[in-house]
Amino acid sequence: MNYPADTTYPDTGSGNLEDVLQKLRTLQKVLFQRFGTEAEIQDLPRALSHKTDELNRLKQNYVDHNDLYNRTRERITELRERAIEAERERERYEGQMDAIRTQREYEALDKEINDANLREAEVRRELQREESRLDEMSVALEQEEQRIGKQDQEVAEEQQRIDTEIAERKITLKELVAEEAQITPGLDEELLFKFERIIRNKEGLGIVALRAGVCTGCQMILPPFFANRVRIGEEIMFCPNCSRIVFYGGDDEFETDPFDAATAEFDDDDLMFEDDEPEEIEAVVDAAAAGPVAAAPSDSDDEEDDD
Ligand SMILES: [Zn+2]
Repeated sequence: MNYPADTTYPDTGSGNLEDVLQKLRTLQKVLFQRFGTEAEIQDLPRALSHKTDELNRLKQNYVDHNDLYNRTRERITELRERAIEAERERERYEGQMDAIRTQREYEALDKEINDANLREAEVRRELQREESRLDEMSVALEQEEQRIGKQDQEVAEEQQRIDTEIAERKITLKELVAEEAQITPGLDEELLFKFERIIRNKEGLGIVALRAGVCTGCQMILPPFFANRVRIGEEIMFCPNCSRIVFYGGDDEFETDPFDAATAEFDDDDLMFEDDEPEEIEAVVDAAAAGPVAAAPSDSDDEEDDD
């Protein structure tokens, strides 16, 4: 197995390695919180988008329904005029009755009057239908207005809640950045840059113990010469499998929690890394007993950090 040259980090000579490792262990907690807070600030406004979409949909519906309402009103005005016209026509025919002289003339006029009556009745029926539709629309529009008002208020309240939460997180963020600034002086910039990437990619766990030759970040058994360099502690070493920084955590076999030394300062609910599989650890230990660098179950999150 070949290990890339950049799995180690040259000591900058600025202070002893144990100090640097201690700083990194403290820093990883701050960085993880900062990245989480930054992600929350970015994600919070998204909670509103569903409510805003719904509000816009309601408003668009209202505009459409209001158009229909107005068109119906125009139609009603037109029907009223037509009803009056039909009525006048009938009255005009009825007025002509006095001038009738023959049976034939009478029958013709009577037919006109009947037709005019039918037309008027038909227009009035339609008028009635449209008027009752208009009433229903008016009630529906009122309900829609209320729904829009309610939704408007919900959006405003949600917006306010989000604004408040973002403001709180920005305060937290400021504190974290200040905390970070307390830790980072003296740390190499390139190391910091790399460490931040590891923290981002490995869900907050960027520096882990190497215990009994096994990286407690990925459970990979690392070769003795590598483990030895970690134990000597003269340079910063990166796990060739998961690229986390490893520090010497003793030669004792695994305890139940392989993360324990690295995560001592973490609150449990701060962390989201996968649960450890005890069988996997046993397999590693068995493999370790069987011989050096036996094929150990490797982390699924393979190296993705190196440039
Ligand atoms: Zn590892």
